[in-house]
Amino acid sequence: MNTSVETTRLQSLDRAHHLHPFTDFHSYAAEGGRIFNRAEGVFIYDSDNNAMLDGMSGLWCCNLGYSQDAIKDAVYAQLQQLPYYNNFFKCANEPAVELAAALTDVAPEGFNHVFFTNSGSEANDTNIKLVHRYYDLLGKPDKKLIISRKNAYHGSTVAAASLGGMKAMHEQALGLDYVHHINQPHWFEGSEPGEDPDTFGLRVARELEAKIDELGEHRVAAFIAEPVQGAGGVIIPPDSYWPELQRICDERDILLIADEVICGFGRTGQWWGSQSYGMKPHLMTFAKAVTNGYMPLGGVLISDTIADVLLSGGGEFAHGLTYSGHPAACAAGLATLKILREENIIENAAQNLAPYFQEQLQRFVDHPIVGQVRGRGCFAAVELVRDKGSRERLAPESAAAVFCRDTANKLGLMVRQTGDAMIMAPPLICDHSHVDMLTEKLGAALDATAAEFGIKD
Ligand SMILES: *Cc1c(COP(=O)(O)O)cnc(C)c1O
Repeated sequence: MNTSVETTRLQSLDRAHHLHPFTDFHSYAAEGGRIFNRAEGVFIYDSDNNAMLDGMSGLWCCNLGYSQDAIKDAVYAQLQQLPYYNNFFKCANEPAVELAAALTDVAPEGFNHVFFTNSGSEANDTNIKLVHRYYDLLGKPDKKLIISRKNAYHGSTVAAASLGGMKAMHEQALGLDYVHHINQPHWFEGSEPGEDPDTFGLRVARELEAKIDELGEHRVAAFIAEPVQGAGGVIIPPDSYWPELQRICDERDILLIADEVICGFGRTGQWWGSQSYGMKPHLMTFAKAVTNGYMPLGGVLISDTIADVLLSGGGEFAHGLTYSGHPAACAAGLATLKILREENIIENAAQNLAPYFQEQLQRFVDHPIVGQVRGRGCFAAVELVRDKGSRERLAPESAAAVFCRDTANKLGLMVRQTGDAMIMAPPLICDHSHVDMLTEKLGAALDATAAEFGIKD
């Protein structure tokens, strides 16, 4: 990799002035980073023209890759016609209206309303206010507590980070005192010796019941969860897990919020992760892939159960963002939905890409440093271990997974590391040759990691 003069200039400006999200400032100052400057199809290129296969769809958002001209054109046309107007105070704009209707078309039955935000974090903040307002209008003002899960990711604002269960985020900001957490359904990490996945799934699901009892049902408002935890490490729940949680939510007077920010728009094989797992949520958070990542947009899909109370209750919902329903972002959303529907992207990915992707990853099951390969749809994780039996890790502080990720990146594959797992979420438009390239590079990175950490076949 040659570094050009222009790249060196940008890198030094970057270090001098730009604080990056989720970045260790100390190590970034020492090592610097890569500057990306163009993309085509499912490949991204850095400022020195090195290509990488994007095995992460950006940050789980560019599900249709980088060359969707119809989305770009729709944004440009909208900027020419009406670059901005808000949706406050009895105003609306055409793309926001059309997108709200189009989203309820592809949502599960019983979802007929949308509230727009600019991000998933803001959408989850909105969820809290919607849930509190709902119970206030029902005359149950004591119902304010929200139950979530450890290692969940619901975003980065103070409220969204409180909902999330990321230890590092809780350590750096005082969270909301009305959010409580139960364990995640991470069988590989949390199961007892000899405990099969379904038994484990039931055990962790029932923690919700115990938590409701502990806090008092009259005080608990909602349970929030990603159908599959994404940023937490692509934690695929055991089959027993969601039916049991659904039973508990049905029996207790609490709302279910599905955070579909990653699972939505086809990642798990259907439009919504909730559909893949038979969940019946009252609220669904969306963001990321709704615009294919080209414009910032998020929001909440609101079921009739909640909408009926909000609409008949009257009074002002005291919440909104200057860019809620931004016309250009909504135009991107409309163009994205059009492609997803007209080109049958989700069905095609579920039938052709997902099975091939999951089958090819199975070749790593016997790799000496792989403890588990898990996945669903176009979503997967590979756990690294020193010892398959005891699940002892290769190195402290996930150093082996970091090495593996860095090696894969150098080989031209963008994958991520979370804890001791390599995680992947390739664009839904990948063909089999992209999967072959991904598995070949990942295999080489795993071999190099085994050698680096002294593991032999
Ligand atoms: C990314 C993410 C969010 C936060 O979305 P932002 O647009 O980054 O605020 C929320 N929930 C889940 C499940 C996510 O993956």
